[in-house]
Amino acid sequence: MNEPTPELLNQSPELTDYNLFSSHSVLIEALAREGAAADHAALVKLGTELGSVTMFTLGDAANRNPPRLHAFDRFGARRDEVEFHPAWHELLRRLVAAGLHTGPWAQPRPGAHVARAAGYMLWAEVENGTQCPATMSYGAVPALAPQRADFAPWLALLLSREYDPAFAPAGKKRGVLMGMGMTERQGGSDVRSNTTRALPAGARGPGREYRLTGHKWFFSAPMCDAFLVLAQAPGGLSCFLVPRFLADGSVNSLRLLRLKDKLGNRSNASSEVEFAAAYGLLVAEEGRGIAAILEMGVYTRLDNAIGSAGLMRQCVSQAIHHARGRRAFGRLLAEQPLMRNVLADLALECEAAVVLTMRLARAFDAQADEQAMLLRRVLTPVVKYWVCKRAPAVCSEAMEVLGGNGYVEDGPIARRLRESPLNSIWEGSGNIMCLDVLRALTREPRTHQALAELLLPLRGCDPRYDRYLAALLSDLGDLGDSSDAELRARELTQRIALAAQAALLLAHGPAPSCEAFLASRIAAAAPAAFGTLPRGCDFAALSARVLAE
Ligand SMILES: Cc1cc2nc3c(=O)[nH]c(=O)nc-3n(C[C@H](O)[C@H](O)[C@H](O)COP(=O)(O)OP(=O)(O)OC[C@H]3O[C@@H](n4cnc5c(N)ncnc54)[C@H](O)[C@@H]3O)c2cc1C
Repeated sequence: MNEPTPELLNQSPELTDYNLFSSHSVLIEALAREGAAADHAALVKLGTELGSVTMFTLGDAANRNPPRLHAFDRFGARRDEVEFHPAWHELLRRLVAAGLHTGPWAQPRPGAHVARAAGYMLWAEVENGTQCPATMSYGAVPALAPQRADFAPWLALLLSREYDPAFAPAGKKRGVLMGMGMTERQGGSDVRSNTTRALPAGARGPGREYRLTGHKWFFSAPMCDAFLVLAQAPGGLSCFLVPRFLADGSVNSLRLLRLKDKLGNRSNASSEVEFAAAYGLLVAEEGRGIAAILEMGVYTRLDNAIGSAGLMRQCVSQAIHHARGRRAFGRLLAEQPLMRNVLADLALECEAAVVLTMRLARAFDAQADEQAMLLRRVLTPVVKYWVCKRAPAVCSEAMEVLGGNGYVEDGPIARRLRESPLNSIWEGSGNIMCLDVLRALTREPRTHQALAELLLPLRGCDPRYDRYLAALLSDLGDLGDSSDAELRARELTQRIALAAQAALLLAHGPAPSCEAFLASRIAAAAPAAFGTLPRGCDFAALSARVLAE
């Protein structure tokens, strides 16, 4: 006879069916502060939807059932289609309906990018693969907008709130999504090494037809309806809009060779592709390809940071929730002094990430403002670097709070930890971001002024901040004369990020968060491990900022 199953003791319940937004004081405050208070009610509604069991189940299902490539049909003819699990389509349908792809372009208004950033951050708590085509579509709009006359039908379909999964010509669809193709085998960071060639089919120039031959080594979300692709034209490296279908309804010659077997991001397909004289339309002038696609890249970098902040928040919430329900050595984990320190430190990192990314999002709302443009120029790579870099460390430490169960795929953290390094790699890996910070500061001196306007008003509030800021500004001032600036680029970028987080917490943060941040990240070296906050911090208050009791 079988032994009866032992009684289940000392288990924290699942953390689902809660409002992702209403339980997140830091995000609620940031939304209002950065100019999108009017969207509060919409985000409460979205927070309820996204925190539901349905959404968590869809996110898990889409990642447990990765997409499959059908390169050929059964007769051997090329098919080049990717089949996704129904959960993927349902997630994308909801994401697009919520306008988390191109909402701010479809309904421009003050605070639109900030409101989308908040929604996108909540989405990142649930599922990350679907964010890839959403982000690329978000960035495609400003990249194509300068050539509205050539790309008006594409722009209109990008702004649609209907997700249409049909593998069909764009003209027959209710909405489209776009991807990007830059990285080749021989180089992703140095795209000037691209070898894909583009020959004019007739007359040359923006909006004209070219034929592309070559390959891309990473080509994500290949079922998108079109891609912005870099290729060498007679006039230099150029950007092309390459659709999946031609005007006559036939399939464009994009040959999907293989799907990557990825660490995370498994719901999404990332393909290797060859172009066999594929049809493409020139975006911007020949030779202006990097500038044209960077218009898309800058929005992608913003989203990388927002996505990482969301990932951190979900993992830290799961950790706090677990510790509030699990006992060890006679009391709740959340009552053990050392665990209180770990949770508070994780929550503080999460708070600082949310505050900083939401501030950056505001700089994207002020599209025409010169000062905001300069801040955006320098702060985007800073924030992409630092927030994305912190995510794997935070997710890993949060996993440990759940003990052995944290490491098991049944739990909520394993998938998110596997996801967490990605944002730091794509659209400019860590070093590339730090070199971009240097480039911004040395080539456009007015970016110093934009940074100063963010950091200087808080001078005089706290001597630890004053000392930190003085040293940083002095080092940034010497940048032009420094022969080892590249060598120190990570250190400088990290210091700018920490100074900006400190300034924002000094200006707006509640006292416990501000004090803990100054004591642990400004007065002391950034901690090697979480759980090293000094005595006297208000540990309970810090944790409650990220997940309300
Ligand atoms: C899941 C996934 C999806 C992706 N999807 C797409 C996509 O849809 N489209 C697309 O175009 N690409 C995509 N990529 C590719 C990604 O953008 C590149 O992998 C990335 O830009 C780095 O390029 P690389 O892999 O060629 O590495 P390399 O360029 O070889 O760089 C390797 C390392 O060297 C560092 N490095 C490079 N130059 C310097 C320097 N001067 N000084 C110091 N360090 C340096 C980099 O920071 C990096 O850490 C995807 C990648 C992943 C993982």
